[in-house]
Amino acid sequence: MPTDIQFELLGLSQQELTSLLEAQGQPAFRGRQLHQALYSQRLDSLSALTTFPKSLRERLISDGYRITYPKVEQHFVSQDGTIRYLLGFADGQSVETVWMPDGDGAEDSDSSIAESVPAAAPNRRATICLSSQAGCAVSCQFCMTALLGLQRNLTPGEIVGQVLLLLKEHQVQIGVDRINLVFMGQGEPFLNYDNFLRAACRLVEAGIPESRMTVSTSGIVPRFAEFAAEPVRPRLAISLNASNDGLRDQIMPINRKWNLEALMDAARVFPLRPRERLTFEYVLLSGVNDTPENAQEVVALLRGLKAKVNLIALNPGPEIGFQTPTPEAVSAFQQTLIAAGIPAYLRRPRGRDIYAACGQLKRSTLVPLP
Ligand code: SF4
Repeated sequence: MPTDIQFELLGLSQQELTSLLEAQGQPAFRGRQLHQALYSQRLDSLSALTTFPKSLRERLISDGYRITYPKVEQHFVSQDGTIRYLLGFADGQSVETVWMPDGDGAEDSDSSIAESVPAAAPNRRATICLSSQAGCAVSCQFCMTALLGLQRNLTPGEIVGQVLLLLKEHQVQIGVDRINLVFMGQGEPFLNYDNFLRAACRLVEAGIPESRMTVSTSGIVPRFAEFAAEPVRPRLAISLNASNDGLRDQIMPINRKWNLEALMDAARVFPLRPRERLTFEYVLLSGVNDTPENAQEVVALLRGLKAKVNLIALNPGPEIGFQTPTPEAVSAFQQTLIAAGIPAYLRRPRGRDIYAACGQLKRSTLVPLP
């Protein structure tokens, strides 16, 4: 059977599916049916496509067409209900995808995946953190994913598949449950731009509005203008993490390519929708970027921007040479921003005990933390 990506149906648009089926002599409505089966019904196999005549299904299968979901290799359940999934692809690569139930939706942490899925309850809220690349080339010094290096880009189908798999596992009802997506797992989405964007379009078609999607970039500045003009455009988060170039050069080497001036210039002209704000993420590293002077520099950088700041006290990892700041230092940093009129939120660490929190995704099988 061919394994070439051209036979993978997951990730294709309705137009592409229609063209593919028309080439097989099928009417256009078959494209619509297949599109709906993939993204609304979340069918994970062509043999389950009973809206198609058996002969057509069998011909597509024998021609090598397929729907491939990632395989759950392992999963780790946190005390706070967060689940980190280690998902494998056919070539042996794997990434992580994190399910974070909000509010009271935390699930039984002792159960297996099949057992842990609750009966569908209305109005659940959850956030899915997904990966856009296997590993990452960006080398942020506080991030465990950086230690993997870049393994490869994920295809649109592999990005979409992470979400559809989790929606299936957790019996999510689109339109009833509230799902947020954050492209903040392994990888720099703007370095796999076309595939990330195609995946975002498919996920909108699956019923998740772009306003509930956020893409985080380390600052691949040349992509900003292009991204701003996309018809499907998730919210933008910028991973800032330093208040001056000297510091940012050290902890985020990407800054040597596009420095803070270039980054902030691009941020200032980024068009926002009504009531939308840019998000700046700032991982606080004890004694490195968490001083009162750093906070004042952040205030100066963000002056005049419609922005908010998410503060993240470093989530520790065994190979990361930084320390988590004290709650007092975190609070003082936050108060400086708030006093300057910048909304600043302290992000609650999710799944830290299972290496599922921000910056901890390194396909680790180590749990819990020592
Ligand atoms: S923080 Fe994001 S961009 Fe930086 S190394 Fe980690 S995954 Fe890559």
